[in-house]
Amino acid sequence: MSDSLQRLKEILGEVTDVNRASAVLTWDQETYMPPGGVANRADQLTTLRRLAHVRFTSEEVGRLLEEAEGEVGGLPFDSDDASIVRVTRRDYDLARKLPTELVAEIARAGATARPVWQKARQDSDFTLFEPYLERNVELNRKVADALGYRERPYDALLDRTEPGLTTDQLEAIFAQLKGAIVPLVGDVARHSEAVDDSVLYRGFDPDAQVAYALQVVIKLGYDPERGRQDLSTHPFTISFGPGDVRITTRVSRDFFNECLFGSIHEAGHGMYNQGIGQNLDRTPLWSGASPGVHESQSRLWENMVGRSAAFWRYFYPSLRNAFPGPLKGVDEESFFRAVNKSYPSLIRVEADEVTYNLHILLRFELENELLEGSLKVADLPEAWNARIKSYLGIDVPNDREGVLQDIHWSGVSFAIFPGYTLGNLMGAQLMEKARKELPDLDGTIERGEFGVLLKWLRTNVYRHGRKFTPNELMERVTGQPLTAEPWIAYVRQKFGALYGAKAAS
Ligand code: ZN
Repeated sequence: MSDSLQRLKEILGEVTDVNRASAVLTWDQETYMPPGGVANRADQLTTLRRLAHVRFTSEEVGRLLEEAEGEVGGLPFDSDDASIVRVTRRDYDLARKLPTELVAEIARAGATARPVWQKARQDSDFTLFEPYLERNVELNRKVADALGYRERPYDALLDRTEPGLTTDQLEAIFAQLKGAIVPLVGDVARHSEAVDDSVLYRGFDPDAQVAYALQVVIKLGYDPERGRQDLSTHPFTISFGPGDVRITTRVSRDFFNECLFGSIHEAGHGMYNQGIGQNLDRTPLWSGASPGVHESQSRLWENMVGRSAAFWRYFYPSLRNAFPGPLKGVDEESFFRAVNKSYPSLIRVEADEVTYNLHILLRFELENELLEGSLKVADLPEAWNARIKSYLGIDVPNDREGVLQDIHWSGVSFAIFPGYTLGNLMGAQLMEKARKELPDLDGTIERGEFGVLLKWLRTNVYRHGRKFTPNELMERVTGQPLTAEPWIAYVRQKFGALYGAKAAS
């Protein structure tokens, strides 16, 4: 290896170490830190983030990158060294394009808007939040201008989170989804009595739930020697390196889905990171391909595996042993149906597989309209409510359960939402390919042989880390770029069967 590339890797390793130290502090803050620690912790994190940013965006890194680019020119596209240089170049240019004053202004705007949003949500009073959201929209425009775009401002923001994807491409995908889901939601709603989920609310001992969930995710392939599970208000996954990838969960006595499916979701993220190649450690490639690709793995394990009939054929006997009281008189088929209950609802994070993407579609549309100026912030609640009515057929009773429900817009972070839908679509696209290459996949799941699917995902997706963009990865693994068809076929088939033949049309 050349001196420049070697030196570049040393600096990238240090930047990674500083970022991972920040991650440890963040994990502690979300799990065990006493409330009094907030102010000191904010200082510590700000300092570490600044150190990492300064180190990464230095002139030295720019010079080493240029030299290294000349040296890796002859290497294959997917080689470690060529990929490290290519992806570092993308990160470096993005980080250098945002003026320091704008970065600071964004941090301040987010910090001041956050408590106002909390109060506005609590009081269900959008007018409190309105001026802050106006400023955040303006800052998102400034970010888009600084990053640059050819067609639409959203392209700049999207390219930062899901590199290679464009607003036009997403619009086409969402149009296709809307055409398929809106009628399916109507069909399911007309047959809502076909699925009874009352068993989920019968009261499940919280400690037993947490223990059972941990047992399940270990069986799926989450390695507890290189991770741990703790409780937090909002479940998350966080990584300090290949040997330490932690997950958290939350638990409710009165609603079964929260703990188990939350744990499987986070374990999906966790198994992804535990599967990234050791050869990529301490480089910018030791991470998921994008937030969307990461979400594809959490949702694949949570929904396409965890909510499948084959999964419950294997796990239901042990679940009934663990919770004999609430599960008395409930057979495996009824339980499988209960955890797949679908109904139009107001809150995104509680939405089921069928309706979830409609919640994202409306946020994607509104963000675009705000950014391009065709929608005024003052008119946002009305636009929100009208779209919920049109897509899901329900009325929004107040802004708390409507436009104020998500934390995202209190920070300057547009273009995050589409990643959730991309995750659903890419998960289905990957699963369709896995089924072709592993014809007995359902059989292996039914027998509890989850390693078969995990190995396939590790080989095709996890080990590459961040080497490829979402479209590059989908092309490599499935032979085509991102497409909505496998997901549409999956929900039509599954929910058509659950709710009667009509929905399958
Ligand atoms: Zn997730």
